[in-house]
Amino acid sequence: MERRTFGRTGVAVPVIGQGTWMLERTDRRSALAALRRGLDLGLLHVDTAELYGSGRVEELVGEAIAGRRDEVYLVSKVLPKNASTAGAIAACERSLRRLRTDRLDCYLLHWPGSHPIADTIAGFEHLRRDGKIGAWGVSNFGVGELEEAAAVAGATRIACNQVLYHLEERSIEHEVMPWCEARGVAVVGYSPFGSGRFPSSWSRAGRVLGDIAAAHCVSPRQVALQFLVRRSSLFAIPKAGRVAHVEDNAAAATLVLTDDDVARLNAAFPRGRRGRGVPTL
Ligand code: NAP
Repeated sequence: MERRTFGRTGVAVPVIGQGTWMLERTDRRSALAALRRGLDLGLLHVDTAELYGSGRVEELVGEAIAGRRDEVYLVSKVLPKNASTAGAIAACERSLRRLRTDRLDCYLLHWPGSHPIADTIAGFEHLRRDGKIGAWGVSNFGVGELEEAAAVAGATRIACNQVLYHLEERSIEHEVMPWCEARGVAVVGYSPFGSGRFPSSWSRAGRVLGDIAAAHCVSPRQVALQFLVRRSSLFAIPKAGRVAHVEDNAAAATLVLTDDDVARLNAAFPRGRRGRGVPTL
């Protein structure tokens, strides 16, 4: 599995990881088997949140990574309502207990909320000094919110911005991605398969995707994943509750798209209009 430096953290992180949203709805044995198979295949960037299953997903992740903590790049997120200075510290400690670990590699603010970002960052910096998190970042931040965070802490402190990014939702490419790339902030694309709304093979664009996949003898999702990590700032975190899906996703790492493939995907799945702010689900 290819790794690249995660923002300015200096840590080399696998380009394809594992999401865990709604994993509590999957049969527990299947979910654990999928996560563990993912770890075996190098999908070691594991993304979770206190929100997911109201903590149950963090417990599941804790069980899946037990005995393998050092291999994993573990990311969790604080809810905006908990993101005061003291609230973020307490939320992180609860997450650590559920995850059965003493540290997160990166801790994110799940989306911008009503607590001043300076207060949240003060909590994150406290946790970092205490060794409870290796780095911190944000999620669902547009350029205005990124500027505010950078004004408080300096952009180099923001490890990543985790944002919606898939073939049919490329609007971060207009402003958010260039802002992050100019400052060395990693861009983690969430819902790389449209959160279950993957392009239909019957659509015109879906047929282009299918043709490219057939030419490489891979699946359309592998083509999508490789396209979504085609730049050095990019990471993707597909969620899969089945071993077969995890295996399919991990195999995307070895696919090499040609310039012609990328041009055809750019034409079939255009970036869309500018000026819509940061997209969310
Ligand atoms: P997604 O990864 O775009 O899609 C997940 C769906 O795709 C599931 O139904 C899964 O099925 C299916 N799937 C996965 N691999 C497949 C394969 N190889 N072939 C066929 N189907 C496949 O959706 P997501 O969960 O919305 O996004 C991924 C992760 O991003 C989340 O889990 C979460 O960690 C993160 N996220 C973050 C935010 C945020 O606000 N920061 C928001 C949304 C998501 P099975 O489960 O049955 O395998």
